[in-house]
Amino acid sequence: MTIDRKPSWLTKKIPNQKSLYAMENMLKGLSLHTVCEGANCPNIGECFENKTATFMILGKQCTRNCRFCAVSKDSPEELDREEPENVAKAVKELGLKHVVITSVTRDDLKDGGAHHFVHTIKEIRRNNVNTTIEVLIPDFNGNKDALQKIIDVEPEILNHNLETVPFLYKTVRPEGNYKRSLKILEIAKRENPRIITKTGLMLGLGENEEEVTLVMEDLLQVGCDILTLGQYLQPTKKHIQVAEYISPEKFQYYKEKAIKKGLKYVASGPFVRSSYKAIEGYNILSGE
Ligand code: SF4
Ligand code: SF4
Repeated sequence: MTIDRKPSWLTKKIPNQKSLYAMENMLKGLSLHTVCEGANCPNIGECFENKTATFMILGKQCTRNCRFCAVSKDSPEELDREEPENVAKAVKELGLKHVVITSVTRDDLKDGGAHHFVHTIKEIRRNNVNTTIEVLIPDFNGNKDALQKIIDVEPEILNHNLETVPFLYKTVRPEGNYKRSLKILEIAKRENPRIITKTGLMLGLGENEEEVTLVMEDLLQVGCDILTLGQYLQPTKKHIQVAEYISPEKFQYYKEKAIKKGLKYVASGPFVRSSYKAIEGYNILSGE
């Protein structure tokens, strides 16, 4: 089914061009990338105005081909050795209290880029002692040693998005594996219960309520703390089509359901993305 017209609740204010421009310039000056730009996030105006951004490390080209994702898929680039330091500088310049670091998937690298993540976390800490760090990591192709490297440096939040229900993996995320992704959340919590674990799903890809509920139950089984639920929006005509626009009431319903089941913090709404207002979840769970 094709849905062309967006419902009224998906209208966003036009971003403030001045703050967008200032942020873009700063990022360009440090050769940094954000997922906000790379993935055409609808919250970019609001987040950049609030000096919030999700830094995307390990380059701009992804080695995977998820059908919902606007990130470029081309030959992977050489690692930018100065990137960890430059991210730390940007965090300082923006005065961020909480920073989200994510990456493209780098199946071409032996450790999937885990060492580069670790280096970035250490640099941020060295320069910004009061900033809390959330990493939104790839699945490292199931490489447990790579994951352990991240767990060992203890980011405050370890996020790995399941993205969709198991039934849709083949069409939406063909190189992903639901069980492998769930395992990442399980291992992180088991190896270091102090780390807050988090995941997210996009809704509107053709999943049904029962399938979403089963994912919530899987998350409880692996001790996941935070869940984000947002509307999938087709970035370009080449990407997978939206199957359904989920109403704000249904998002609220899912939120209440997940909380009732036992998830500790749930952000659910049409514009929710895994890094949207990420500090809120951290503050609630850490009691700050
Ligand atoms: Fe960037 Fe996340 Fe905000 Fe989107 S929600 S603009 S990805 S920080
Ligand atoms: Fe996009 Fe991540 Fe999939 Fe790469 S692995 S295509 S960055 S969602």
